[in-house]
Amino acid sequence: MDAGLKRELEAKVYAGERLTREDGVALYDSDDLTWLGRLAHHKRTELNGDRVMFNVNRHLNLTNVCSASCAYCSFQRKPGEKDAYTMRIDEAVRKAKEMEDEQLTELHIVNGLHPTLPWRYYPKVLRELKAALPTVKLKCFTATEVQWFEKISGLSADEILDELMDAGLESLTGGGAEIFDWEVRQHIVDHACHWEDWSRIHALAHRKGMKTPATMLYGHIEEPRHRVDHVLRLRELQDETGGFAVFIPLRYQHDFVDSADGKIRNRIQARTTMASPAESLKTFAVSRLLFDNVPHVKNFWVMHGLSVAQLSLNFGVDDLDGSVVEYKITHDADSYGTPNTMHRDDLLHLIWDAGFQPVERDTRYNVVREYDKAPSLAERRAEPQQVWA
Ligand code: SF4
Repeated sequence: MDAGLKRELEAKVYAGERLTREDGVALYDSDDLTWLGRLAHHKRTELNGDRVMFNVNRHLNLTNVCSASCAYCSFQRKPGEKDAYTMRIDEAVRKAKEMEDEQLTELHIVNGLHPTLPWRYYPKVLRELKAALPTVKLKCFTATEVQWFEKISGLSADEILDELMDAGLESLTGGGAEIFDWEVRQHIVDHACHWEDWSRIHALAHRKGMKTPATMLYGHIEEPRHRVDHVLRLRELQDETGGFAVFIPLRYQHDFVDSADGKIRNRIQARTTMASPAESLKTFAVSRLLFDNVPHVKNFWVMHGLSVAQLSLNFGVDDLDGSVVEYKITHDADSYGTPNTMHRDDLLHLIWDAGFQPVERDTRYNVVREYDKAPSLAERRAEPQQVWA
């Protein structure tokens, strides 16, 4: 990038001016990570100071049986496959109860599009989970699942969300977004929920008072311009509804064979590499700068590893996904030694060690507890620090 354009972009960011599509592409063109980080850190600090939010949650996948076969997905199984499973409602409740001692505040539930499970199963699970764990907030279902419920129930998304909210639903999850541009989407997504339905369902949830997350799956066959387009669509919707609480760039992962039948289900990995840590940090930074009206940017550390999670706090990220005891959709695909369990204390030390103040939040980003600011560097260095994977 030439020095003139660099100065121009820098001036826009410091003046709080909205960046354009061309600006977004130009930022992705830059390999000056330190510069990108500085700009993103300015924006992040303006919005969130030196706070890093996290919550203590548990991820549950009620079933991995799915009618679709998305090209990047290592999670889905077809009915009758060796490790296909569907939880009974009491099983789901038992698994959720196992985390009670962790002062869990949220359950995050996403699932395959099961071909024969009746619609009634889903509100019933929520009701029973809520009865068993009344203080726990239920963040459940992607827009893709809600559109699937429309298909299997004959109800509208409006009626479905009303019933799910009545059963205890606090928020949708942000998945199913992947990359909205059809040029890419047609090659990776096999279900029927695209931008029109995804945005319709989230806008509806926002009108009903929900705060929802939005995701982007990057690092596969898309180009930077597709990432920019993805964020700009979300930014425009956010201008209308104000209902997105957080943006979560998710790194596409290869499928490392760990399924019972040894099959690799990810059909695009032969022609893709995974995004490097530098590419991920750039994606966090550009997302923070472009998506100027979303309050938070999250790093779901299970996908990135803890070292990148720490670094990303200087690249626009101010939210880390909390204690994850069980998460299958992406972790099936990880062979880099990233733990799939973090507890509150581990996370606090990870945040302090990076020089930030941990703040525990709930599903709607209300503060549950503010922790001390980071101890001074001298104090931190006086004790041996943990080295994160
Ligand atoms: S990404 Fe979701 S909808 Fe697509 S195959 Fe996997 S589980 Fe099914």
